[in-house]
Amino acid sequence: MTDYEALGLKAGIEIHQQLNSGEKLFCACPTVLRKFEDRSGEFSRYLRATVSEMGEIDRAAKEEMMVLRKFCYYTYDTCCLVEYDEEPPAPLNREALEICLTIAKMVGMTPIEQVHTMRKLVIDGSNTSGFQRTALVAMNGTLPNGGSIDTLCLEEEAAQRVEGDTFSLDRLGIPLVEITTSPCMRTPEEVFSVAEYLGMVLRSTGRVKRGLGTIRQDVNISIREGARVEIKGVQELDLIAEVVRREVERQQNLVRIREELRGRGAQVDPLPVDVTAVFAGTSSSIVKKAKKILAVRLPGFAGLVGMEIQPGRRLGSEISDYAKKCGVGGIFHTDELPAYGVTGEEVEALRGAVGAAEGDCVVLVAATAERARCAADQVIYRAKMAFEGVPEETRRMLEGGSTSYMRPLPGAARMYPETDVLPVRIGDDEWEAIAVPELITARAERFVIKYKMDPAIARQVAYSEYLPLFQEALDRGIPPNLAHRTIFATVKEIGKETGRDTSCLLEPATLIPVLEAAREGRIAKEAIPEVFRLELEGVPVGEAIARSAPTISVADVEAIARKIVSERKEFVKSKGMASLGPLMGVVMEELRGTVDGKVIAGVLKKEIQAVLKEE
Ligand SMILES: [Zn+2]
Repeated sequence: MTDYEALGLKAGIEIHQQLNSGEKLFCACPTVLRKFEDRSGEFSRYLRATVSEMGEIDRAAKEEMMVLRKFCYYTYDTCCLVEYDEEPPAPLNREALEICLTIAKMVGMTPIEQVHTMRKLVIDGSNTSGFQRTALVAMNGTLPNGGSIDTLCLEEEAAQRVEGDTFSLDRLGIPLVEITTSPCMRTPEEVFSVAEYLGMVLRSTGRVKRGLGTIRQDVNISIREGARVEIKGVQELDLIAEVVRREVERQQNLVRIREELRGRGAQVDPLPVDVTAVFAGTSSSIVKKAKKILAVRLPGFAGLVGMEIQPGRRLGSEISDYAKKCGVGGIFHTDELPAYGVTGEEVEALRGAVGAAEGDCVVLVAATAERARCAADQVIYRAKMAFEGVPEETRRMLEGGSTSYMRPLPGAARMYPETDVLPVRIGDDEWEAIAVPELITARAERFVIKYKMDPAIARQVAYSEYLPLFQEALDRGIPPNLAHRTIFATVKEIGKETGRDTSCLLEPATLIPVLEAAREGRIAKEAIPEVFRLELEGVPVGEAIARSAPTISVADVEAIARKIVSERKEFVKSKGMASLGPLMGVVMEELRGTVDGKVIAGVLKKEIQAVLKEE
């Protein structure tokens, strides 16, 4: 067991959640995602940072700009010139601001008097303008763990990456709330519970988007001996604690490597050596393609470059991430060679060419001359950082919870005012008028107390997007169990059975009449699936109910029950009342769900008792 508190773990989270407003943040376009094949066109653009407006380009920006990139954008008939960055933004969307204020009030934050929209530099191509607009809305909230929320901002969502440098503009401009906590969490489990709590608060508003990709968590993590690292884009809440555990492991191992390097008196050669000639006759297909092969000697690094620092990641992977910024595919190093078609003889020749001793590691980059030089410089740069231990970085989550390097932590030069959007004043009366919605957790407790629902079911319902539908059913006097079973199980079963989209069954206008008919006994509960099947075939709800109504009288049911019982007298006599269950199945099969199970049970019970009395 890792003692996280002893390691001085400090973690904070930043949650980004899409808001379910009707319009985008700075234009009247709808906040709907489109299919890529429905695009109306494409255009491309080269991205440059506007140095004059920014004063200086921060180091994260510089890094991304080492390779000038051309970006392509998909357009839709649901986008306008604002998304293209060809028209200035409209005033800040007041509905989105109101949702933000609601969230702020729920977590005890103080609103900003005047909301100023700022520009945050983004040069990965995810925004056509080269920056993301963001506005600070509220400050100083409280968390259940005793920690605090620093800020709540209203932002515009970035364009969705299609692949490579191609982006889709449907998502650009959807309002996003960004909630940033202080680094107040001390264990991976605490990070999970705070993230879960904030997700619950957001959902409690009923005004946020749902589904994969609509909520993303960034986690910043440091341990005492390490450094602040920000991990971007944790989409699955269940993985968040694992991400923290693995980052702590990575930082611990980088610190171990640092101590080992210092102990060994290790070094980094300041200049790469051209070893292209060494590989002149190589049969390695990857190396053969390269015009230039450069080697960096790392005296005293042997064994450490290949050391695993978190599952699936080595110090070599970190060095490789830096080199990839120059457009190379990766690096090779002698901790893992011979491999990739590079032979033992070639490794020996390489070691000879750079004068590597046994305790040294040699890193290779193979590419065009320009890229190889750039990559070799990055190898030297990152290898030197190993003596410091953990570099401050922004990292990307990989499948499973390990991470790869994205860029350095952004500097302070990233924000500057957006002069095209006027500031918005939040008046005292406006803040007073914001209603605080009931928390989902409180709602679940209320269901347990008021309707005697099972706590697990109450929780499922309270978290669900079908909560309003469920609540409406209960308000109309539908028993909670019937409403729950129908909404959360029956509809799903019908969807599986028919392979059709069943969302039309989950509208109040189509669902409530069916539940009411079942409650009033106009149809058997067992007939609900049949009503749904008819509705899916286009039969109006009223007619579907009428067609599913029982066609036989109670007397008919009694006759059938009597016949079935008398045919099985021996069975009934040997089992007594325990024969009720098996016989229910037989009768229901005969009646094919047209009669309510309770009615059948009542009739059947009488018939069984009659037989038992015969003795
Ligand atoms: Zn638009």
